[in-house]
Amino acid sequence: MSYMVGMKCRECGRTYPKEVVFVCEYCFGSVEVDYDYDSIKKVLNRDVIEGRAKSLWRYRELLPIDGEPTVGLTSGYTPLLKADNLAKELGVKELYVKDDSVSHPTLSFKDRVVSVALTRAKELGFDTVACASTGNLANSVSSLAARAGLRRYIFIPSDLEAGKVMGSLIYNPNLVAVDGNYDEVNRLCAEIGAKYDWAFVNINIRPYYAEGSKTYGYEIAEQLGWKVPKHIVVPCAGGSLICKIQKAFREFQKLGIIPEEHTKFYAAQALGCGPIVNTIKEKSDIVKPVKPNTIAKSLAIGNPADGYYATSTVLESGGWAEHASDEEIVEGMKLLAQTEGIFTETAGGVTVATTKKLIEQGYIPKDESIVICITGNGLKTQEPLVGKLGAATPIQATLKDFEANFASKIEHSLK
Ligand SMILES: *Cc1c(COP(=O)(O)O)cnc(C)c1O
Ligand SMILES: [Zn+2]
Repeated sequence: MSYMVGMKCRECGRTYPKEVVFVCEYCFGSVEVDYDYDSIKKVLNRDVIEGRAKSLWRYRELLPIDGEPTVGLTSGYTPLLKADNLAKELGVKELYVKDDSVSHPTLSFKDRVVSVALTRAKELGFDTVACASTGNLANSVSSLAARAGLRRYIFIPSDLEAGKVMGSLIYNPNLVAVDGNYDEVNRLCAEIGAKYDWAFVNINIRPYYAEGSKTYGYEIAEQLGWKVPKHIVVPCAGGSLICKIQKAFREFQKLGIIPEEHTKFYAAQALGCGPIVNTIKEKSDIVKPVKPNTIAKSLAIGNPADGYYATSTVLESGGWAEHASDEEIVEGMKLLAQTEGIFTETAGGVTVATTKKLIEQGYIPKDESIVICITGNGLKTQEPLVGKLGAATPIQATLKDFEANFASKIEHSLK
């Protein structure tokens, strides 16, 4: 049973059948999936959700598929940690980390969007999937499409981290390293997509793909004990995730699954690529494209597809935005690791550093609940840490040499 009614233009409201539609023919606005919420309300509640397997498909009525889920059956339902050590460090009372650095199977939140996109691509009859990616999407499409038996073409900028390239190649996709930045890769993919009958997960089937991000928001609400946080800090690339977390909270409220409470949204980007943050700080609604130059390559989209919507999500919620420099990003990665034991990628460093600044500047109050979004794993982005972490202490294989190096530190624990 599907509760997906069709597609709806986010600008003029014109409706379309649930096929491959991603821009409105009338106003060129982007389209979104539309659901029959009255019918969903009759079948979906906390008990039903809690009785299901711990994967992102436990919210299936709110996802854009017609039949049974077929891809990513074990993705989602990552931990939400109460981060007391980090909270103490930042001087706040109640802080949580939603940790998609351990997402199955490819260690980033992109497994959510890809699970949904590929399930839908199969329903729509595609045998080939493709994407334009800053790295994590490449890994996820490569992996999940391998298992689903789909042909795959993955387009990335040629300067990605070794971990992200290897993390795609192992699944043997057609991996195409384009001489250009993400925005140029994306432009090329739009051209290829116009000629070949492929499902580009983040282009022609983007409306379906984007819905997968809502599961990150549903899980936060469920894991907080069926309520929303007062504040949430979200790393932004194309700007879709932040909008979809808000959509998830609103849907749960509309369905009576959680109480109506207000959440303020905060956008986190790198100083070297912050078109959404720039727009928010200017309180503008025109997103000016930038040329990316940052170690946070997974967020390096200079011309974000959902930049306008991300900006209005933040401003209408009463939230704010901040940038993190490359140095602050590395400090943020170290801080999260050393307080909470989580090794996140550069994007997570952006989130932690931004949160710290927003608290220091008084935008986020110290006594209200805060969730920070950790969306990727640090093993994939090791390059910026080289030379920044000290080194292992080399010794001979003797007790004498060990003690010679550590004498002052271990004296007090002698038997
Ligand atoms: C893609 C990505 C994001 C942001 O996603 P958008 O929906 O494009 O804003 C955040 N974090 C990581 C690690 C990502 O790979
Ligand atoms: Zn329209």
